[in-house]
Amino acid sequence: MRILMITMSMLAFMGCSHAQVHTKVQADNFAIENVGDGIYVHHGAHLDIDTGYQGDICNISFVVGSRGVAVIDTGGSLKVGRQLHAAIRKVTALPVLYVINTHVHPDHVYGNAAFLPSHSNEAKPEFVGHEKLANAMEFRREQYAKLNDKLLGEDAKGSELIKPTLSVETTLELDLGDRKLNLMAHPIAHTNTDVSLIDSKTGTLFTGDLLFIERTPVIEGDIKGLIAEVEKLKASPAKQVVPGHGPFVKDWVAALSDSQRYLNVLLADIRASIKNNDGMEKAMDTAAASERDKWKLFDIANRRNVNTLYPMLEWE
Ligand SMILES: [Zn+2]
Repeated sequence: MRILMITMSMLAFMGCSHAQVHTKVQADNFAIENVGDGIYVHHGAHLDIDTGYQGDICNISFVVGSRGVAVIDTGGSLKVGRQLHAAIRKVTALPVLYVINTHVHPDHVYGNAAFLPSHSNEAKPEFVGHEKLANAMEFRREQYAKLNDKLLGEDAKGSELIKPTLSVETTLELDLGDRKLNLMAHPIAHTNTDVSLIDSKTGTLFTGDLLFIERTPVIEGDIKGLIAEVEKLKASPAKQVVPGHGPFVKDWVAALSDSQRYLNVLLADIRASIKNNDGMEKAMDTAAASERDKWKLFDIANRRNVNTLYPMLEWE
């Protein structure tokens, strides 16, 4: 008790609360937040994958069980993956058993290589992803490598696409000892490789990019599919949610509803634009304009969404 009091007063002196010290752990400028029993999240910056991209823009999480650790997404470069690995080692010495990728996008997968024995001097974990992930990685290998070289330069070195060794067709249960992770493969939504998962011990749902908070949602796969999957997630027994980008939330149904609202407005506006023969260029400026003030990186992401979706929706 006495030791605790001294610690608390020292913390008060340093100007931070007891709770903050418990929830923030700093490892080489790679901050992780403890959001529940054995659940850690690193929040990347809200940056576009364009000029200024540093490979660290998405949420990267790990779950510590009694048998070992599961990693959920690894960041956009080997460098970020190594920082993640170092952060895990500050929390636990247990082996990393699983490296899960929520989908194919480069900001989520390029840190995988840091968990290979050649880089970590530890046993190789199972790499886990959607049944379509291996093909999607193969298909994009060249394009993503070029993009990484151009944007990350030196930091792109050693970043390689490591394909899943364990794939999720429908659902998959991973046993971490005192807790289980239940993975679900989704139909085409944000991409054609989306996986979400829930931790049995804390009820933490990791949505991958099926949910963005603060940052404008991105659709590459199928907007109607994404709206449907977001609706399904609302029925989850989750107690809290870690989105693909943005803060960890307890009020996650509201966050899913915000995302759906944007997606529904975007879909309706693009359909109206097609019906009126307004053309895609105009739609890029006007579609979902009512949402502009509600999201970060809106102009760039929304225009890109229109560019992706308009040609698809013309064939409805
Ligand atoms: Zn993504």
